[in-house]
Amino acid sequence: MVKQEDSYKHRGMRKMLVRELKVKGIKDERVLAAIGKVPRHFFFDPIFDQHAYEDKAFPIGEGQTISQPYTVAVQSELLEVKLGSKILEIGTGSGYQACILAELGAEVHTIEYIKKLHLQSKKMLNKMGYHLNFYHGDGSMGLPEQAPYDGIIVTAGAPSIPNELIKQLKINGILIIPVGKGKSQTMIKLVKTSDSKVTRKEYKQFSFVPLRGEKGIDQ
Ligand code: SAM
Repeated sequence: MVKQEDSYKHRGMRKMLVRELKVKGIKDERVLAAIGKVPRHFFFDPIFDQHAYEDKAFPIGEGQTISQPYTVAVQSELLEVKLGSKILEIGTGSGYQACILAELGAEVHTIEYIKKLHLQSKKMLNKMGYHLNFYHGDGSMGLPEQAPYDGIIVTAGAPSIPNELIKQLKINGILIIPVGKGKSQTMIKLVKTSDSKVTRKEYKQFSFVPLRGEKGIDQ
């Protein structure tokens, strides 16, 4: 159910969250503005409303979570979205990260493995006025039919980096992917500098639900 109300109190809590993210090191003003704009409490059951602006992941059903705002901010910042960038998100989940990408000016393609979440997020985002490109299926090998992309963001923990994702990037395209088989994953940024070369940088540890599918934990 969409909770349409975005009250003064919600907007105030969002401002506080943005301040907290700045203190934690998020510098990209466009990312901060997007987080300040998207009503995260719309993705929560009204009885958990007060948790929406805590910097925490939260269950969204089906054993999955809406990512922690700090994680969303870090991934969005690393992705360097520009107006019109064609972005593939793997793991739509609640749809919150997809809204942030849309606010950054991206052409968003987002794929979700669990049908119920795919349908729920599509319905919710359409009601909120975000008409993005939603797909249901295994995104662990990307979405070749819409490739190439300026950026790919994976929002579930991958055991390794699928080669297919690199193939689907444009030259200078960016892949942001949390990689690790245990409870925590290292955030990795790859930039495809030519058809045969990538640069790779590692960031902090994060904790994601596992990537499913052929190149995920089911391989
Ligand atoms: N981006 C989401 C948000 O803003 O709410 C957070 C998503 S949650 C941490 C990770 C999501 O990835 C889950 O909804 C999960 O079902 C999905 N997922 C896992 N493996 C997948 C796969 N192979 N293809 C597509 N989605 C996948």
